[in-house]
Amino acid sequence: CGIVGYVGLPSVGEHQALDVVMEGLRRLEYRGYDSAGVAVVADGDIEMRKKAGKLANLAGEIESHPLKDSLTGIGHTRWATHGGPTDSNAHPHLADGDKLAVIHNGIIENFSELKKSLVEKGRTFKSETDTEVAAVLLGDIYNGAGEKNLQKSMQLACQQLEGAFTLLAIHADQPGVVVAARRNSPLVVGLGDGENFLGSDVSGFIDFTRRAVELGQDQIVTITPESHTITDFFGNPASGKEFTVDWDA
Ligand code: GLU
Repeated sequence: CGIVGYVGLPSVGEHQALDVVMEGLRRLEYRGYDSAGVAVVADGDIEMRKKAGKLANLAGEIESHPLKDSLTGIGHTRWATHGGPTDSNAHPHLADGDKLAVIHNGIIENFSELKKSLVEKGRTFKSETDTEVAAVLLGDIYNGAGEKNLQKSMQLACQQLEGAFTLLAIHADQPGVVVAARRNSPLVVGLGDGENFLGSDVSGFIDFTRRAVELGQDQIVTITPESHTITDFFGNPASGKEFTVDWDA
């Protein structure tokens, strides 16, 4: 129900992906949720923690099993639609040998057809969610037609997905990159100086920047610490709507 993403340069200093993402999730709590999770890219791996219940449960889990330092991360609060509010159904969902982490707001309407064909190919699932189907599909595409390019893979995956989704993905082999897509579900980029943010709304990054870009329907954005690149689902260049947040947080 709430989504946050972060990438930053080491020189930006005091910001850690985990802290930015947790702060964003706290700001998004008003949307309601039943579970929460985070993932970061660290030393060529994805590190993930997720928990049913309040953010305090997730914070406790992270305190007892700390994450490595990272400047690339995503975070999610879930409002369960497919699969009960359990630890394993919480987001992120992993694929590609646990090297790819995906979070999702919304509903993938055609997840059961997609899941059937992925199961026929021998793929296995750890949750009952529609989201994990998108994660596994993205992982398969990444290692095939997506040519290990996360942005291209997201385009190809979105061409197959139906319904409502804001999707964010990070890959262990691509530190410093978060790729996000949206259809019938909101997504906003926050522009920083040597760091960039993603949120399901500006609350996700309001503590860090007030410069924002709202994505349009069926768009994909790739953020790095110093760039944000928007395309449609077919790779054609696109642009969002830039604005400044002028309310007091
Ligand atoms: N449909 C997804 C699930 O049940 C995402 C729900 C949400 O928007 O939080 O896991």
